[in-house]
Amino acid sequence: MNTADFSELILMITGPTYLRPEVREAGKLPEFGHRDTSEASKRFTPVCENLKKIAQVGDDYGVAIINGSGSYAMETTIRSMVSDSDKVLNVSVGAFGDLYHKMAVINGKNGVQLKFGPGKAIDLNMLEDTLKKERPQVVTFTHNETSTGVENDVKKVCDLIHQYSAIALVDGVSIFGGSETHIEKSKVMLYSFATQKSLGLPAGFGILVYHKDALKKAATVKNRGYTTDLIQHAESAEKFETLTTPNCTLANQMAVQTDYIVNVETVEKRFARHKAMRDITAKWISSLGDGFYPFAQKGYESPTVSSVAVPKEVDTKVVKSEMRKMGYLFDAGYSKMNKSLKEAGINPTIRIGHMGDITEGMLKEYLKKLEGVFLK
Ligand SMILES: *Cc1c(COP(=O)(O)O)cnc(C)c1O
Repeated sequence: MNTADFSELILMITGPTYLRPEVREAGKLPEFGHRDTSEASKRFTPVCENLKKIAQVGDDYGVAIINGSGSYAMETTIRSMVSDSDKVLNVSVGAFGDLYHKMAVINGKNGVQLKFGPGKAIDLNMLEDTLKKERPQVVTFTHNETSTGVENDVKKVCDLIHQYSAIALVDGVSIFGGSETHIEKSKVMLYSFATQKSLGLPAGFGILVYHKDALKKAATVKNRGYTTDLIQHAESAEKFETLTTPNCTLANQMAVQTDYIVNVETVEKRFARHKAMRDITAKWISSLGDGFYPFAQKGYESPTVSSVAVPKEVDTKVVKSEMRKMGYLFDAGYSKMNKSLKEAGINPTIRIGHMGDITEGMLKEYLKKLEGVFLK
């Protein structure tokens, strides 16, 4: 097959994201047998140890690597943590919060939803009112809402959830690897993420950081399925294996990339780089002029994805094709949300994914070119 026209673009979208040349090169490392303990543990032992360092968790937590993607990890948390007699409160600040609710309902769980408007973070007073009224046993929420560029305050939200004796399931898919998870100090029960966002890897695994108590709770839940059963995944994880056959190419790349994150770039510098990219983007937005403004609630701007309201006249299809000519894949925003914003007379949004291994220099270059297209 002729692959010469597979476009070489820098992905400025919100996942999958740009891969460092070294990560692409690691895709050529040898395939291995996943039950060949010596080979598998050469990859998965350092991967799990490094992921715990990136998550900043200690011995109370384990890491399970699951075939699939972030959604698969999230669905595993629903199937394994919500029993028939439980009520689950799904707190949503956007499309991915809605997705968690959909998963609860589709799986036959007793799910209720608390929704906040586009661009808003979780309001603690409203959450408290809902906790008082609904008395859920389980609460889900999104750490970093990719559709709107909002980062919720994990510690404060979890503290409130625990005050009402519920457990917290957190979707951290688009922020893990780019910023602090706050898992340990917030006593998160299960935290879901994936490879293809801020970790800077191809897609292929959903990953769970699980508190050891989650296994006790799971043991009380019926019909957890097989590939959505936390207990099965945790048993495999303890042997540094996966429950079903993993993507060995990705496992090789993960070994290389998580080692790079922890031992070469360092977790501290990686997190600082993402905050710097958030600040660079905020400054750029404020320089753009009429009709352009930050979409996320002030004080809750995400370090991995910025959402920018743009004037209604901006034709994002044209912007996308102009940026493509310059070697970039532009993100025209979350289309369903943009449609409803436009209908309500509110400026639509575009998104800038500055996650994973995008550097400050690459981002500045991109913003300069994007500005040129906007002002044309
Ligand atoms: C991308 C994303 C998901 C879905 O992850 P997949 O890996 O595509 O299944 C879930 N939640 C958030 C916040 C995301 O950004």
